[in-house]
Amino acid sequence: MAGKLIIFSAPSGAGKTTLVKYLIDQDLNLAFSVSACSRDKRPHEVDGEDYYFVSVKEFKEKIRKGEFVEWEEVYPGQFYGTPKTEIERIWAMGSNVIFDIDVVGGVNIKKQYRNRALSVFIMPPSLRELEKRLRNRSTENRENLQKRLTKAKAEINYAPEFDIIIVNDNLNKTKREALSIVSEFLKSPL
Ligand code: ADP
Ligand code: 5GP
Repeated sequence: MAGKLIIFSAPSGAGKTTLVKYLIDQDLNLAFSVSACSRDKRPHEVDGEDYYFVSVKEFKEKIRKGEFVEWEEVYPGQFYGTPKTEIERIWAMGSNVIFDIDVVGGVNIKKQYRNRALSVFIMPPSLRELEKRLRNRSTENRENLQKRLTKAKAEINYAPEFDIIIVNDNLNKTKREALSIVSEFLKSPL
C-alpha cells in the first residue's frame, strides 16, 4: 500500500542514515524525502539526492514563500526543511515516503499526518558510543562534533514521543528489527 510516511529520527551519529538507506534498498516501495539544507555538502553527497543544498538566503526565501511542511535551524546557522513538494512527488509516484529528520522535525511531521505516519526513534546504546561513531565517521570538525554531542543529550528526551524506539547496538539486528516494523506498518490498512 502506498501513501504512507515513515519517519526515522535520532541524535546525529546514532545510525539513522545507514538504516534509511538499507530500508530504501528493500522491496518496500519507499522513496527518500530529500530535504533542503544550508550546510556545506560533504564530499560523497550528491545535490538533489542527499539534500537540495541552498544558501541561508535561499532557505529563508523558501520559508517566506511557505514551501516547507516543517523546517528548523537544527544547528546555529544550519537550516534544514522538508519541502511540501517532496511528499506530493513521492505519493504521486505511488510510493511511501521515508524521512531522515531530526527529532523535533520527526515529532512535527507525526503530529501533522497521524496514522498515515510511523515515527521511529533510533537510540544509540550510549553517549560514549555515539561520540565514537561520530568520530569514526570523520565528517565533522571539532566544533561541530561538540555541537552535535551537546544536542544529542537533549534529543534523547524526545524518544517517548515516538511510536517506536529501536536501540541501534548491533547493526544487523537493528536492520532486521527496522525491516520487520516498517513492513508491518506498510501492510496495515489506514
Ligand atoms: P546518523 O544519520 O544518525 O547521523 P549514520 O547512519 O551516519 O548516523 O551513522 C553514524 C556512523 O556510525 C556511520 O559511520 C555508520 O557507519 C556507523 N554505524 C551505524 N550503525 C552502527 C552500529 N550499529 N554499530 C557501529 N557503527 C554504526
Ligand atoms: P546532517 O547534517 O548530519 O545530514 O543532518 C543533521 C540533522 O538534521 C539530522 O538529525 C538530520 O536527520 C536532520 N534533518 C535532515 N533533514 C531535515 C529536515 O528536513 N528537517 C529537519 N527538521 N531536520 C532534518
